[in-house]
Amino acid sequence: MKKVCKSCLYNEDHPLGIIINEEGICSGCLIHKEKYTLDWKERWNKLQKIVKEYKSNDKRNYDCIIPVTGANDSYFTVYIAKEKLGLNPLLVTHNRYYNTPLGIRNLSNLRIKFNCDIIIQNININSIKKLSKATLYRLGSFHWPVIAGQTVFPVRTAVNHRIPLIIWGAHQGVEQVGMFSHLHEVEMTRRYRKDHDLMGIEANQLVNSFDLVKEEDVHQLIYPSEVDIEKVGVRGIYLSNYLKWDPLQQHILMTKKYGYKTAKCQRTFDVYDHVDCWHFMGIHDHIKYLKNGYSKVLDHACREIRHGRISRNHALKLVDFYTHQDPKYNDLLFEWLGIKKSSFEYVIKKHAKYGYENKIDLNTPELSINTLIKKIGFNSSLNINYDKKDKKYILFGKGYP
Ligand SMILES: [Zn+2]
Repeated sequence: MKKVCKSCLYNEDHPLGIIINEEGICSGCLIHKEKYTLDWKERWNKLQKIVKEYKSNDKRNYDCIIPVTGANDSYFTVYIAKEKLGLNPLLVTHNRYYNTPLGIRNLSNLRIKFNCDIIIQNININSIKKLSKATLYRLGSFHWPVIAGQTVFPVRTAVNHRIPLIIWGAHQGVEQVGMFSHLHEVEMTRRYRKDHDLMGIEANQLVNSFDLVKEEDVHQLIYPSEVDIEKVGVRGIYLSNYLKWDPLQQHILMTKKYGYKTAKCQRTFDVYDHVDCWHFMGIHDHIKYLKNGYSKVLDHACREIRHGRISRNHALKLVDFYTHQDPKYNDLLFEWLGIKKSSFEYVIKKHAKYGYENKIDLNTPELSINTLIKKIGFNSSLNINYDKKDKKYILFGKGYP
């Protein structure tokens, strides 16, 4: 029997690694408690001191790189760097191609409101499709090239443009599972990216996979060499080590102050995190459940329990309600990859450790679910219904504010 944390809902089987102590409390909950004991004024001063070294005097050079998307903690990270730390950032984004109209709009609004330059990486679509198929077969993940691109493009840009400092938002190893203390001030590493973000596989290991992937398909996803990184002195810091990180409060502030727009996502009550992607909270999340036995809504629920905005029992109810909802828009993905639904399901079943069928009674009344969501502080009534002509990926989009 797996041990489950008495405080949140994670068990010790978490893919990032969770330890449950003798009192039955998990490492993630223990590290979360630091948020209420650390001297955040002192932590902030430390951050100011770190970034000071990287400020250019004449404002003609970029001080740092910030990886962004049309969702997640992008707005807040840029807000802190630009408005609070006085830095001149270069924004970078890796085009995942599964873009929703709202994601493109948010990204456009972000660079306009904060008056920032942005570089967008558009890897050729044929290579991305080949890689998505290869990782789907091998790892049960069509999303792997997105993660690989998002985590390496900022580093490659830092090396190529000689901008040493990269500023990220939250570190999941700290925020979710308590792998490190905030005080460890853990920074970006090649190793963490490979082991956790990329599921242990580097891009070059995919060459010759199923006769699909060639050398030229992966070169944009290869991490720069140690020599190149050292030459520029590239380092990546995480704001969550220096600020009392609270995504819900941050999103509410960014919505009010800078017009970040949200929508109801599939399979969760969180309306902020992944509104830019057709699949992250859909079929990608469904696969996460089949492989790991839990979906993203559990991450969201644990986070809200820890912030004291929902009880453990109510959180369980939300998790039960959302975990087994069918993902939408799968047809877009099958068409994009050029594979049949039946082949996709065949591959996923090979990687699934957990039941493919719904196991939980879905009779929990929607009304009480909406009440719970509102109680935490999320707006449960937001919705976007894409009509037929809008139901497609935006492969390139300049957006509007
Ligand atoms: Zn816990």
